Amino acid sequence: MLIAKDLNSLEAWDKNYLWHPFTQMSSFLKEDPLIIKEAKGVILKDVHGKEYLDGVSSLWCNIHGHRKKEIDKAIKAQLGRVAHSTLLGASNVPSIMLAKRLVEIVPAGLSKVFYSDDGSTAVEAALKMAFQYWQQSGHPEKRKFIALEYAYHGDTLGATGVGGIGQFHTVYRPLTFQALSVPSPYCYRCALGKDKETCGLACLEAVERVLRQGHKELAALIIEPLIQGAGGMIVHPTGYLKGVRELCSKYNVLLIADEILTGFGRTGRMFACEHEGVVPDIMAVSKGLTGGYLPLAATLVTEDIYNAFFGDQGRTFFHGHTYTGNPLACAAALASLEVFEREAVLKKLQPKIEFLRDRLQDFYGLGHVGDVRQCGLIAGIELVKDRQTREPYPATERIGHRVCLEARNQGALLRPLGDVIVIMPPLSITLRQLDRLVSIVWSAIEAVASR
Ligand SMILES: *Cc1c(COP(=O)(O)O)cnc(C)c1O
Repeated sequence: MLIAKDLNSLEAWDKNYLWHPFTQMSSFLKEDPLIIKEAKGVILKDVHGKEYLDGVSSLWCNIHGHRKKEIDKAIKAQLGRVAHSTLLGASNVPSIMLAKRLVEIVPAGLSKVFYSDDGSTAVEAALKMAFQYWQQSGHPEKRKFIALEYAYHGDTLGATGVGGIGQFHTVYRPLTFQALSVPSPYCYRCALGKDKETCGLACLEAVERVLRQGHKELAALIIEPLIQGAGGMIVHPTGYLKGVRELCSKYNVLLIADEILTGFGRTGRMFACEHEGVVPDIMAVSKGLTGGYLPLAATLVTEDIYNAFFGDQGRTFFHGHTYTGNPLACAAALASLEVFEREAVLKKLQPKIEFLRDRLQDFYGLGHVGDVRQCGLIAGIELVKDRQTREPYPATERIGHRVCLEARNQGALLRPLGDVIVIMPPLSITLRQLDRLVSIVWSAIEAVASR
């Protein structure tokens, strides 16, 4: 048990020793600290014993809730065998089992699994594979990439090069290769000034223009299928992904699907690509892969891509990380995938998605809610200063942040994306808990944005 003196020390040490990611420390140091001590299911508990609904799945990765019995057990059992052994020129049992399982559940056509440690490294591997694929397939001139405006694919330099969020990425431009950018199908703020009902997916024409002009030099297009996460939970119009797939095939450019956020049930299907019957050439998964327990990622490829690396030593994919295919993480992932089956998680998810859809309508009753977007069990509520003109709040107001602090007071942990409030609980949330979570978000927005 932590006593008051320990608590004061912990809070002081947090501020003294830790540099938090994506966090302006000068603001952070002025705020009340939040230190999580334990959790169960979708409830997190801080060091003072206050409980919170995990409204963003501990940053988009938790699937079956915390301390899920089966996953805990699998990790402990694996600890009794071996915690880590390398995949460089050798193998380990859970990594083999998981690779087989993944190939069974991903869109048919993806047949080989390359492991890494987190989303960014899975994307990094995907980009290097796409590049080297063409080097070794008689088209060394195909070396450029296309990415979407507002894209987010991670924070390592390659992933930053295909990023499209000014605030995160601009400063590093001189360090990265620059991908070609196409407009995001962000219907609420359509770059083409069109209306969603009548546009006929005009944004696909913009993609085709870039492909037509550049395809001879283009290696791949990378996309977050159906929904762009960090860019603001931008939900793409139906048919966009399929259209992009067709265009990539037409112009002989590889399609990389970044399913790091969308994979493992978030969108209502196991993978977002399934909604539009799309098979990418390369697919990256991570966040939900281990049920949100341990860092692990995989880059899956088609036989065609794998074969381009097959042969003499010079064709090798010279890439890999120390902890690649970590047995503990793979054991957690296997256990998570078993839970998906045994508990019919995807089936039980459908009524939750419908319930969320219903409840989200209420938000239009709040004066500063501009747009409400949903994809499966993910929602983004975009707050605006002026609903008529869609004028954003000044960034200095930190309206999203303030709403989330209020939600925290009321017992829900959220993290906004600028002025977009995100609701993304673990798939295991019950209807009652979901009801409570949505109510808290509603009243937090009302309390802060109507002031
Ligand atoms: C989170 C995320 C990443 C990066 O994953 P990390 O594990 O944070 O490196 C990449 N792409 C998408 C779509 C993501 O949501």
